[in-house]
Amino acid sequence: MIDTHAHLYADELIKDIDTLLSEAKETGISQIFMPNIDISSIDAMHQLADKYPEICKPMMGLHPCYVKEDYADQLSIIRSHYQTREYHGVGEVGLDYYWDKTFVNEQKLAFEEQIAWSDSDQLPLIIHSRESLDDTIDMISSAQSGRLTGVFHCFNGSIAQARKALDTGFYLGLGGVVTFKNAKLDEMVAYLPEDRILLETDAPYLAPHPYRGKTNQSKYLPVIAQKIGDMRQQSVELVMDYTSVNAKRLFKM
Ligand SMILES: [Zn+2]
Repeated sequence: MIDTHAHLYADELIKDIDTLLSEAKETGISQIFMPNIDISSIDAMHQLADKYPEICKPMMGLHPCYVKEDYADQLSIIRSHYQTREYHGVGEVGLDYYWDKTFVNEQKLAFEEQIAWSDSDQLPLIIHSRESLDDTIDMISSAQSGRLTGVFHCFNGSIAQARKALDTGFYLGLGGVVTFKNAKLDEMVAYLPEDRILLETDAPYLAPHPYRGKTNQSKYLPVIAQKIGDMRQQSVELVMDYTSVNAKRLFKM
């Protein structure tokens, strides 16, 4: 299995990282893709990627919740890192209208710029969208050059929104939220085509039931796969199998 989205460098995880990674390995996880947050998370992410190059795969971008007055400076620092090492995706980027709407305009500009990086560098775009899914899908649709690829991470939209998101050619990442009792995502998850679903934890956030509220970690990935299997009336092994194939296709592994 591949955890396509985990913030392994977060304080909650980094203090036990050796244990967490060996437990993830024992669970059958071969790679973990790490989205960046802002300029303050870069060093910790690089250190992990250097220490565990086989498992921990860094990606680079500015998270929409951290787009503030200084976003242009942040973006130019973040972009300069692309000259110095290899990244496996542009992320996480997108729009978030849930926490704070002060910088919505700036969020859109930052998103646009990072979509262009993904397009020019031919790297998957890792999209964060909260209370902003329709705008996010619209921006991807109009930017779709025919070669843009990526994932709507933590997708929890309606079937109609899923259809539109799939029309962009992107993958949909499913995580702990699908296991939440009040999530009501069964029909949408059952509707998705097998070749467009990715597994993710978003650790340390959004731990799946019955660990909800605790620190999330990559070893909980099978709990999410099991729930997806239940919703789609498929075995957990089958879900693990096709989601791994999808992740390898997206990340060109
Ligand atoms: Zn994230």
